[in-house]
Amino acid sequence: MELATLRLGGRHDGPHVLLTGGVHGDEFEPMAALRTLAVRLAPHEIRGRITIVPVVNEPAFRLGQRVGDDGLDLARTCPGRPDGSTTEQIAHALANLIRAVDAYIDLHTGGVKLSVSPLTGYMLHPVPAVLNRQRRMACAFGLPIVWGTDPSLEGRSLSVARDANVPAIYAEYLGGGGCDPNGVSAYVQGCLNVLADLHLIDGTLARPTDEPLVIEDQRAGSGHMQVQHPAPSDGLFEPAVTLGQQVRQGEFLGTLSDVLGHEVIPIKADRTGLVLVLRGFARVSAGESLGVVLETDPPPQIASLGAATVKCQP
Ligand SMILES: [Zn+2]
Repeated sequence: MELATLRLGGRHDGPHVLLTGGVHGDEFEPMAALRTLAVRLAPHEIRGRITIVPVVNEPAFRLGQRVGDDGLDLARTCPGRPDGSTTEQIAHALANLIRAVDAYIDLHTGGVKLSVSPLTGYMLHPVPAVLNRQRRMACAFGLPIVWGTDPSLEGRSLSVARDANVPAIYAEYLGGGGCDPNGVSAYVQGCLNVLADLHLIDGTLARPTDEPLVIEDQRAGSGHMQVQHPAPSDGLFEPAVTLGQQVRQGEFLGTLSDVLGHEVIPIKADRTGLVLVLRGFARVSAGESLGVVLETDPPPQIASLGAATVKCQP
């Protein structure tokens, strides 16, 4: 399996960075941003090498879906197998690219169904040098939320990077199945910021957010966005909150109703915090996540990790 790849630089020594989009086939801003970035970067000015895969999961993109026709989520399939199904083969090819680089950025959105507050995230890597580099990359990217989470999650592109000690971050920017120019430009600028911080290119950081909200949460399963607030049944979801809003535990996130609206199930926040993810596509199936609340008032496990010491320098 060969992934369609753009390769830049290589004339001057420096680190090798991998940038990917389209791990999910219905996340379009990353694809547009990475192609724009490839045009914007002057190859002779790059100190090191940049490998760009704008659409990792081409079969899913052709279907306009999150996953390909084997039904496997590429972000749960890494590192894959060379002799497996299409998604397993793509995962294997992606894993080989990740293991070969010095730093990695994986761009996502909420796809057709979800909307995510713009953020950069990373795993709370056990190797301090890797963790610190990831924090630095996530801060440099410049989105309003920086989120460090459970390092034990498997199957992700970042799981491969973790095992290879390659500093890696991912980013999320809204969703809905469009190609929002604001998202594209935020991603272009974010990647340029990180490349400048890694000294691959010249330039000063232009950040939309100088003081992001930084949350590090090492509890098991933190960072797994598809498990919070599962829909208790099939139905129509009507949100009562907006992305980024603060909610208290027990407050309404919205309602789920049947065809005639006779059965209306209130969906209540199971924790206090910021609405990080909200279901956008209103028709839902039982078990699908309706939203994610990010705890901003950290419980003791988070505080003991020293999250307060993580500062993004303006
Ligand atoms: Zn994704």
